[in-house]
Amino acid sequence: MSDCAYICSRDFIGLSQNFLLDERITSKIVKSAGYIKDHVVCEVGPGPGSITRSIIHRAPKKLIVVEKDPRFLPTLELLQEACQERMELDIQIGDIRDYNFEMGFANVSKMDWHDECPPINLIGNLPFNVSTNLIIRWLKSISEKNSAWAFGRTPMTLTFQKEVAERIVAPASHKQRCRLSVMCQFWCDVQHKFTIPGRAFLPKPDVDVGVVNLVPLKDPLVKLPFSMVEKVMRNVFNMRQKASRRGVECLFPVELRQELGPKLFVLADTDYRARPFELSTEEFARICYAYNLLCEEY
Ligand code: SAM
Repeated sequence: MSDCAYICSRDFIGLSQNFLLDERITSKIVKSAGYIKDHVVCEVGPGPGSITRSIIHRAPKKLIVVEKDPRFLPTLELLQEACQERMELDIQIGDIRDYNFEMGFANVSKMDWHDECPPINLIGNLPFNVSTNLIIRWLKSISEKNSAWAFGRTPMTLTFQKEVAERIVAPASHKQRCRLSVMCQFWCDVQHKFTIPGRAFLPKPDVDVGVVNLVPLKDPLVKLPFSMVEKVMRNVFNMRQKASRRGVECLFPVELRQELGPKLFVLADTDYRARPFELSTEEFARICYAYNLLCEEY
């Protein structure tokens, strides 16, 4: 291996680059995002641009691509040149976590949260570690109505490892039900659109991939600070197979557990014996509100 090749592969380790080359699959991903004609679309992690091409075919007004790996710049610039008469392709080389959506979407008029979704779409086939981490950050932004959600209920079409996609949409009592399911369902309508077999990627990952649509809810099930909700969910799911009471009690100082644990379940009108994965998203919302009330009281 030449020095240069070594530097490249070392520098880009961790980007988990598995590419989709089949146009039927890339256009199916874009189709699952719904109507995007004349919209402003942001594609996260375009790589060599196969999903990008499918997005361009659907004629958005503007496409912003945010790619961390600068080696894709020449390919993306070729695409930019090829479509310049039809639409604007804005290439941003950098980490999506640092991207300023409010600047990128500056010319889009803001919609009221209770209105239709704004003419903006986020689409991405990211490495699994990035997409799971990103969705938590984005749920926080949704709860605070900032970043891409300062414009209204911006929908997302993202890929996850198939099992993570199943967790995101898992209803109460489903074997995949976990903290991520409840957090996503507090703020979004979630749909697992379809599964892409691992063999469709190059190189082939060890897992299959799920395409998920997340559309922010007009009325989120909780309207409490994100950090508080996250803390409650982390504690309750810490003991997934035990009665929910066990995890909830850990939210309180030792000397108050006996008193406040049962009180919280009475306030939340929820069965303390149920295991966390058996509780509905509404019951979890009531647990968060009850915790908030007890924090104010004590
Ligand atoms: N979209 C292409 C496709 O489907 O063939 C590439 C998919 S590949 C799984 C993920 C892409 O995301 C890579 O091009 C990688 O460099 C890029 N990427 C990884 N982490 C990123 C980040 N934090 N911000 C932006 N792009 C990232």
